[in-house]
Amino acid sequence: MSAIRITGGAVHDPANDVNGEIRDVCLRDGKVVADAGPDARRIDARGMVVMPGGVDIHAHIAGPAVNAARKLTPEERRGHPVDRTEILRSGTGGLVPSTFATGYRYSLLGYTTVVEAAAPPLAARHVLAELRDTPMIDKLFLILMGNNQVLFELIRQGGDRVRDAVAWWLEATGGYGVKLVNPGGIERFKQSGGNVHSLDDEVTGFGITPRQVLEAVGGAAHELGLPHPVHVHANNLGVAGNADTTLDTMRTLAGRQAHFAHLQFHAYGGRPGGQPRSRAPDLLEYLSDHPELTADVGQVMFGPAVTMTADGPVSATLRDLGGDKWVNNDTEVETGCGIVPYTYRAGSYVHALQWGIGLELFLLGRDPWQVMLSTDHPNGGSFLSYPKLIRLLMDRAYREDQLGRANQRAIRRTALLDGLEREYTLNEIAIITRAAPARRLGLRDKGHLGIGADADVTIYHDRADREEMFATPRYVLKGGEVVVEDGELRRSEDGLLLSTRAGFDPDVSRVLEPLFGDRYTVSFEHYPVRDPSLREPTRVVEARGS
Ligand SMILES: [Zn+2]
Repeated sequence: MSAIRITGGAVHDPANDVNGEIRDVCLRDGKVVADAGPDARRIDARGMVVMPGGVDIHAHIAGPAVNAARKLTPEERRGHPVDRTEILRSGTGGLVPSTFATGYRYSLLGYTTVVEAAAPPLAARHVLAELRDTPMIDKLFLILMGNNQVLFELIRQGGDRVRDAVAWWLEATGGYGVKLVNPGGIERFKQSGGNVHSLDDEVTGFGITPRQVLEAVGGAAHELGLPHPVHVHANNLGVAGNADTTLDTMRTLAGRQAHFAHLQFHAYGGRPGGQPRSRAPDLLEYLSDHPELTADVGQVMFGPAVTMTADGPVSATLRDLGGDKWVNNDTEVETGCGIVPYTYRAGSYVHALQWGIGLELFLLGRDPWQVMLSTDHPNGGSFLSYPKLIRLLMDRAYREDQLGRANQRAIRRTALLDGLEREYTLNEIAIITRAAPARRLGLRDKGHLGIGADADVTIYHDRADREEMFATPRYVLKGGEVVVEDGELRRSEDGLLLSTRAGFDPDVSRVLEPLFGDRYTVSFEHYPVRDPSLREPTRVVEARGS
């Protein structure tokens, strides 16, 4: 492995309180070191900005939903071929790129670690196969646990078995963390086309409520000390008035660590069925009093998107709005899935309001460590739009120009016209795109440039046009090797799979086996992923509770 000394750059490493100081960064054997030695290659970064590699805490890049979206939208990718070269494989780009193209394009943006945020455990083989096939980036995935009939049984019975079962499921799949999507609501949709509307609605046939699912699974993740706490896509996504449900969910999880996904989609006032308005300030106020909670924004970007969610009833609603083609795809026992291609229009009241609420979450929040950057790729827009989003946060004049193009009735109902002067600093961008996500994921080797960190580094030209700056890093280094130079991929890397391990009572198998036998078409014995080509190599992050 090579040794590299990056000299003379302005280093933004907020996890280590380094804010734009000119200093060298040394890399050797894949890690940040104090001195790279006399033979190290020198990278002259004078006039440039040096940050840790980007960490995306919430995106959809692998598994059955992503693959179904690819199949559903060939016309959307037809014009974006990625050609084979000596070092690269071919693929297609667009909103839902093929596996190789996903890795290449994240790397070209300076991202080095990405979370696949919604994997059905039953589809872990598929998820792992696609993640193994996604080069350049380190990756991890969260397993869907909010609508699992076997877990529902254990929750109804009470006791400690939920905790053991969650740890068993992580072990069986290679997953990194636990995700709840519309707890209880997807099961109801699968049964009858219905949904749950409050945390106290009963999940038909199971004698439990969404609140009990939140408490049991959120509590299990907390007690196990998982490196990443429960990751919550709350009930009533997209529904006017859902901010009350979101606050109720936050209160239900009180005292436990939790991460709220794409908070923008859960920040609406108004009455169900009526016109939404913004309640971003209320959610931010709650967050500021509760440092145990974090969120990513799920910013909407005007233009085409592909909505892709385990939240089947949301997809059914979107299908009714657009009337275009869609996919609904249940996973037995565990979860659902819907996919609807979608376009966010600046002239639309609702879309402009969503766009404005996302910006409010970024700009009105006091603590950038708590509210992180995402577009819920590809739901609010592609990850390729992150540079434009960064410009909206850093460049007030640009933002006001864009505000002027959006539906004014919606924008007037946000705080964005109240002389909102805030412009993110480079350090704040480094927090919301790498330092905070890495810390929240419990990835101690990532998101910073201290001694011993992974040698994942992005070097940008310090350009006035922040969109251009963040779209084309001068260098990207992965594991201590230069993988991107001047917008071109220089070498292909496999990237690591990250998984977690938490201790559990092996006796839980005796409880799970008959419940599996009653419900799954897959036998309990064949359910866990054992294929070494899928499981290994992996870097395991131990849970604190084990
Ligand atoms: Zn998502």
